[in-house]
Amino acid sequence: MPENNTRDTVILGSGCSGLTAAIYAARSNLKPLVLEGHEPGGQLSITTLVENFPGWPDGIQGPELIENMKKQAVRFGAELRMAHLASVDLTKHPFELNLGNEIIHTRTLIIASGASARWLNLPSEQALIGHGVSSCATCDGFFFSGKEIAVIGGGDSAMEEALFLTRFASKVTLINRSEHFRASKIMLERAVAHPNIEFLSSTTVEEVLGVEEKDVKGLRLKNRVTGDEFILHVSAMFLGIGHIPNASAFKGMLDLDEDGYILTQNNVFPTLNGEPLPGVYACGDIQDRRYRQAITAAGSGCMAALEVEKYLEEHGR
Ligand code: NDP
Repeated sequence: MPENNTRDTVILGSGCSGLTAAIYAARSNLKPLVLEGHEPGGQLSITTLVENFPGWPDGIQGPELIENMKKQAVRFGAELRMAHLASVDLTKHPFELNLGNEIIHTRTLIIASGASARWLNLPSEQALIGHGVSSCATCDGFFFSGKEIAVIGGGDSAMEEALFLTRFASKVTLINRSEHFRASKIMLERAVAHPNIEFLSSTTVEEVLGVEEKDVKGLRLKNRVTGDEFILHVSAMFLGIGHIPNASAFKGMLDLDEDGYILTQNNVFPTLNGEPLPGVYACGDIQDRRYRQAITAAGSGCMAALEVEKYLEEHGR
């Protein structure tokens, strides 16, 4: 049990950045508590093959990479706990974390709570989540073997999902609201080259059909150039339209940008009214709109943990 029930450090989030921070903090004997939140393992845990994480020449499955990191953190004394952060008070010292049924005090806080999948927010889409509407191809793709499906988005996530889903689906239609695709050249080329992927650009989803049947029957689409509406018969719709940062608990406590990402100085120092807040650090996708890679998330997690160590040392711990 930590002294006076106050932790040296608590890490919010168990994705790539949070677990890297946990490995470093644990190896510094800080016995970090990692709060796993509503998406344990973060985005890597719902990904398939990761080909660009250094050290894995043949790639590694995302969930396996996360599992390895967890084991590594636990081996050095990190404690992992499933918990949802209800609110946080950074004006108190030690900082106060309210988990609903428990209050935790900590001298330092590492925010690594990442970003969650974005939805179109159509009533018909929301009604059919889990009935053919999904934001996780790796979780749900298997259920649509031999079926025709749609993937929404034009970035790398959408390309990755579409390519993955060709393993199951007889045909994948990629629907992008813009004329141009935001995806990287290599990912776009892979998707274009695939015989079972078709592209619809300048097209929006107006409605997901099948609410009454509780099963996706198709999509009512609209061509943004001509204004024409038409029906695409598919059995599933997968979202690949980006993410929303999990930082709402910090509204008013830290500076956030217009989309809710935590603003930082030198990658890991969050600010309040433009001034760094000592003892609080942010790492990974919650503060990174530019790179958003597993390796950059891990790198900033390492930086945050080293800053924690330095801060505690400077404060006599
Ligand atoms: P992006 O922000 O790159 O792309 C989001 C896409 O969704 C855009 O095409 C955007 O359209 C569209 N979109 C956003 N909101 C809506 C909406 N409400 N309705 C319809 N379409 C919408 O996000 P990604 O998740 O694809 O990628 C994020 C980062 O992660 C990138 O840097 C990417 O390179 C990286 N990444 C890398 C991967 C890899 O290397 N294997 C895999 C996945 C991601 P519009 O262009 O019109 O705004």
